[in-house]
Amino acid sequence: MLEVEGLYAGYGSLPVLHGVSLRVDKGEIVALVGANGAGKSTLVRAICGLLRPTAGRILKSGRDVTGVPTHLRMRTGLAVVLENRRLWGELTVRENLRLAEAYGGRRADDSKPVFTMREMLELFPVLSERNSSPVELLSGGEQQMVAIARALLMQPDLLIMDEPSAGLAPKMVMNILLVIRGLRERGISLLLVEQNVALVSEIADRGYVIALGRMVHEVRKGEWAGFLSNKVLVKAYLGG
Ligand code: ATP
Repeated sequence: MLEVEGLYAGYGSLPVLHGVSLRVDKGEIVALVGANGAGKSTLVRAICGLLRPTAGRILKSGRDVTGVPTHLRMRTGLAVVLENRRLWGELTVRENLRLAEAYGGRRADDSKPVFTMREMLELFPVLSERNSSPVELLSGGEQQMVAIARALLMQPDLLIMDEPSAGLAPKMVMNILLVIRGLRERGISLLLVEQNVALVSEIADRGYVIALGRMVHEVRKGEWAGFLSNKVLVKAYLGG
């Protein structure tokens, strides 16, 4: 579904990623964890085409998309919920979702939409209630729901979420986790970027630990408990 091979990227003369590799297979939830500044968001930006890598490859569904512009990359079934959501704040909930729907409906393969507006409003009832509100007036949790609904209306088969729990109350975090679990059941693959390793260990099949721009550890299926109980490792990599 997604393969990142030996990726190098940075900002101007500042190198950040040093030969990073990861893969997400069909139907998997894969976590990317790491401390502040480890390079998680930089990797997400490179995968989405918002940052040009200096070396390495990114394959989506077997197709090399390394040099493909972001808008065309999204048509391969990739959608992203960026850190801090990046919504159109002055537009209403409805307008944000309609724009995504219009875009998703134009997928190159012309496949039937998997997610409909109606389903989104059922999944997140609060969005129905706040349909006409400018998004910037919503709470952080509500905005996160708009961001997820907007990404899903683009009909992805792979969803990347950068820090979906950031700034949310515990109850809202639980809601988001339930939604993520439900997405997997719908056949969506997920790459979940989080600082909160305890949280992702609840739902991720596998995980990668990034530190100073390098993949330093891989958590394989069934290994989360062992990883979390290794306090030395967790402190060294995550500063926890
Ligand atoms: P956090 O969890 O705090 O978001 P992160 O793992 O996502 O951290 P990145 O945001 O990828 O880390 O940052 C990695 C490094 O790149 C940091 O040293 C950061 O200061 C630097 N960096 C990030 N964005 C830029 C930018 N736009 N210009 C220059 N340097 C940047």
